Amino acid sequence: MATVIVRNATYEYDQLKPIIFQMLEALAGDKIQPGLRVLIKPNMLSAAHSEDAVLTHPQVIRAAVEYVLQKGARAQVSDSPAIGSFEKILQQNGTTEALQGLDVTCVPFKDVLDVDIGKPYGRIEIARDVVEADVIINLPKLKTHSQMLLTLAVKNMFGCIVGLKKSQWHLRAGVDTMAFARLLVAIHQAVSPAVSILDGILALEGEGPGKRGRPRKIGVLMGSDNSFALDMAVCRMIGVPPINMPMLKVAQDNQLLPSCEIDGTLPHVLNFQLPDAGNPISGPVFFQNFLRRHTMVRPVCDQPLCKLCSKCWTICPAQAIKERTDKIEFDYGKCIRCYCCIEICPHGALHSLETLGGRLTRKLIAKFS
Ligand code: SF4
Ligand code: SF4
Repeated sequence: MATVIVRNATYEYDQLKPIIFQMLEALAGDKIQPGLRVLIKPNMLSAAHSEDAVLTHPQVIRAAVEYVLQKGARAQVSDSPAIGSFEKILQQNGTTEALQGLDVTCVPFKDVLDVDIGKPYGRIEIARDVVEADVIINLPKLKTHSQMLLTLAVKNMFGCIVGLKKSQWHLRAGVDTMAFARLLVAIHQAVSPAVSILDGILALEGEGPGKRGRPRKIGVLMGSDNSFALDMAVCRMIGVPPINMPMLKVAQDNQLLPSCEIDGTLPHVLNFQLPDAGNPISGPVFFQNFLRRHTMVRPVCDQPLCKLCSKCWTICPAQAIKERTDKIEFDYGKCIRCYCCIEICPHGALHSLETLGGRLTRKLIAKFS
């Protein structure tokens, strides 16, 4: 039986620190021993301020670091941002300042090691720091995700794939959301964090996980030594059937979902806004291309907000974004709907939009099913 600890919290450090200490002690206290190398993996997607609710809050990271140091272990904070400098991201969101004076190593993932994550992927490159850590503390953010509905504890481990390799894996999974979910679950199982503490104090709803999402105060911290249990509890809290989340569907199919108990009071969050998530398509290639072009939710640009900064077409795994004289253009036949571009746009210029064809198809399916 997995336990999910739920506590009301704010970012007021004097209040936050004892909550995180208690969660870590209860869930992983016996694993964090003197001298061990403890890797703390927050969500450091891309440059953002803490009030944008895109990244794990600096005070949550600070409390985890202080706990590790108090146990006599060695603390390292690392991630592999989708784009941009890790150091600048830490500085901009206030993590550098929050960790000042603490004996902690803050470096981006760089070197990799081949790890067998099982069929059909086989050996894939995972950050060396992750593989060599004695204990991993996962610090995800509660955010929506245009492709995977939500990005919580399981998906946060995708950051252990270094740099643009992430885009290559998106491309390999293509438009098949479930194929990508199976990859995420396999990576999570290979990395196997000892404990996850989810920052749901200021969450992100709407068109997450980047700056297009809307911060929403929920005021909870949730911790578990089982990421699937934690993600299920979040779904319950915001009123989403867990099975709607591709990673939890994969976990269910593979008998990975535990029964779980809640320690604390799970709030009921009403009207939590989800993104227009894309739906998987199948069938012959010409039919897939037709559906992809005309019915799938697609990324679109608010051109006046676009600064032609190049980040979206640099990260696009399908090379589906082209720079024109004063705007960008999408090739929706090529686009695999990974929404990495929306995630990464520093100016909130991109969002997903359901096509008229998609809306009509969805209504027809609803009517006749
Ligand atoms: S859409 Fe965003 S990421 Fe792409 S060029 Fe414009 S500002 Fe940059
Ligand atoms: S255009 Fe955006 S959603 Fe489409 S493949 Fe490129 S990064 Fe992914």
